[in-house]
Amino acid sequence: MRVEYDFDALQNCQCGACQVHDGSSCVMQKTNGWKFTTCASTPSPDDVEGIYCSAQKGKSSCGDLDVDKACLCPTCTVWQSHDLETAYFCTRGAAR
Ligand code: SF4
Ligand code: SF4
Repeated sequence: MRVEYDFDALQNCQCGACQVHDGSSCVMQKTNGWKFTTCASTPSPDDVEGIYCSAQKGKSSCGDLDVDKACLCPTCTVWQSHDLETAYFCTRGAAR
């Protein structure tokens, strides 16, 4: 199911706690260790590393994500409420 990039998804996304992108120096560099690069309540998708499942965001431009680690998406309420069945949207692209 298509996921919209919205405030609810921003609040509930688990990517910020996920080891797949925790070890990425590219993500660290882009976000400075924060969830978003701005403190706007609805930052542009370009300013966020997360909500990769959403149609407006899609996969990360960072190439150093460690997909040998476990994806946290199945623990996320966005994943559950949209009946998503796949994971690793950060490397595979948005949910369909
Ligand atoms: S399903 Fe995954 S990518 Fe989508 S909001 Fe939840 S944790 Fe983030
Ligand atoms: S999409 Fe899944 S694997 Fe990628 S950062 Fe988010 S929770 Fe981790």
